[in-house]
Amino acid sequence: MAERVSPAASPTGAGSLLKLIREGEGSTRADLARRTGLARSTITQRLDQLQRRGLLKEVGGSESTGGRPPMLLAFNENAGLVLAADLGATHSRLAVTNLAGEVLVEERGEIEIAAGPEAVLDWVEGRFSKLLESCSRQADEVAGIGIGLPGPVEHATGLPRNPPIMPGWDGFPVPERFAGRYGVPVLVDNDVNIMALGEHWTDWREVENLLFVKVGTGIGCGIVIDRAIHRGADGAAGDIGHVRIAVDERSEDVVCSCGNLNCLEALASGGAMARQLQAAGIDARDARAVVELTRAGVPEAVQLVRHSGRLVGEVIATAVNFFNPSVIVVGGDVADAQEQLLAGIREVVYQRSLPLATRHLRIVKSPLADRAGVIGAAAMVIEHVLSLESTPLGAPRDG
Ligand SMILES: [Zn+2]
Repeated sequence: MAERVSPAASPTGAGSLLKLIREGEGSTRADLARRTGLARSTITQRLDQLQRRGLLKEVGGSESTGGRPPMLLAFNENAGLVLAADLGATHSRLAVTNLAGEVLVEERGEIEIAAGPEAVLDWVEGRFSKLLESCSRQADEVAGIGIGLPGPVEHATGLPRNPPIMPGWDGFPVPERFAGRYGVPVLVDNDVNIMALGEHWTDWREVENLLFVKVGTGIGCGIVIDRAIHRGADGAAGDIGHVRIAVDERSEDVVCSCGNLNCLEALASGGAMARQLQAAGIDARDARAVVELTRAGVPEAVQLVRHSGRLVGEVIATAVNFFNPSVIVVGGDVADAQEQLLAGIREVVYQRSLPLATRHLRIVKSPLADRAGVIGAAAMVIEHVLSLESTPLGAPRDG
C-alpha cells in the first residue's frame, strides 16, 4: 500500500512546535508556551519527543534578564536527508538536500520519460544511490523522497493519471517503487505544482497568494493559496493551457493536443511557437530553439514571443481578477527569452485586470529557473515529514 499524504499536523502537536521553531517564532520554552497556550509541562514533553528524534539543537543562552539565561532552541536541519527528482519530458534534475532544503549535491540528467516507468525509475534509483555516495551519506539517513512528473498526478496516492506524454505511466505506483528500498514517505506531484512550491518556499514564504506560470513546451499554472499548493477537487487546478482563446475570424483555427480548438497552449506555448516559425521557413525544433532565436534577435521570433506573452497575459488577467494574487512568478524555458515574454504578459495583465487587483501585484521572472522543480520536490517532502504525522521522523528512534 502506498503511503498516503497525511492530514495537516495537529495544531498543538510536536510538529507544530517544530514549525514555530523553524520559522523563528519560538526559540525558548517561554516563547512556545506564549504562542501556543500550552502548559509548560506539555511543551517540555513535546520538546523531549523532538529531541529524541534529533530534530532540535540547543544554541546557547539568550539575553539574560537576571539569573541563568534560557537555552535557545533551534531546528537541527541535518537530522535527515531528502532525495528529490524533477523529471521532465527529456531532461531531469536530481538532488540530495538536508531538512532545510539546502542542496548537498545535485545533477542534471537526460532520460526520455516516454521510456516508461520501470526504465525511468530504475535510472532515478541508480542516480539517487550515486548522489548519496558522492556526498558520503547513507540510505538510512533518508527521511523522504519527492518526485515531480511532467503530467497529471493524483497527489494523495502519488499515481499518474492519464498523462498525455508518458506512455505506460497511467496508474503506475511510483511511491511503492521507492518505498520498498528506503521505507520512507514518497510524495509525487506534477512538475508545475512542485515548481510553484519551490519558488514560494525559496523567495516568497511570507506571501499568502501566488501564481506560478510555466511557459515551456506546454503551458501550466501552479496555485499557492494561504501558503499551500491548491490542487482542486481532482488535481486539475491551474490547467490554464487549455483555456480557449478568442482568435480573430481571419485566423485559422488551431487544433490542440487535447482535441479542442484554439487552446492557449496550442497558440502560445514554446511548442506552438516552434511550429509557427517552422511554417514561416525558420529552423526552430522546439521551445529552446525559439528562445535561442529570440536571444539572437531574429525579428519573427521576438515578435512571436511577445505576442505569446500577450495571449498568456489575457488568461492571467482573468485569473488575477478572479484570484487576486500578490505575486506572479513566470518560469519555464520560454521565460528566458530576453524579457519579451514577461513584457507581453505585463502589458496585458496591467491593462485588463482591475486596478484594485493589480495595485500591489508583482510579476517577476523565476529566479530559480530550471532548479525550481527539484527544490520544490524537496520542500514538499520536508513539510510532510516535519509535520511528524506517520513518518519515520515521527516515531522515536531506537537506541
Ligand atoms: Zn487544449
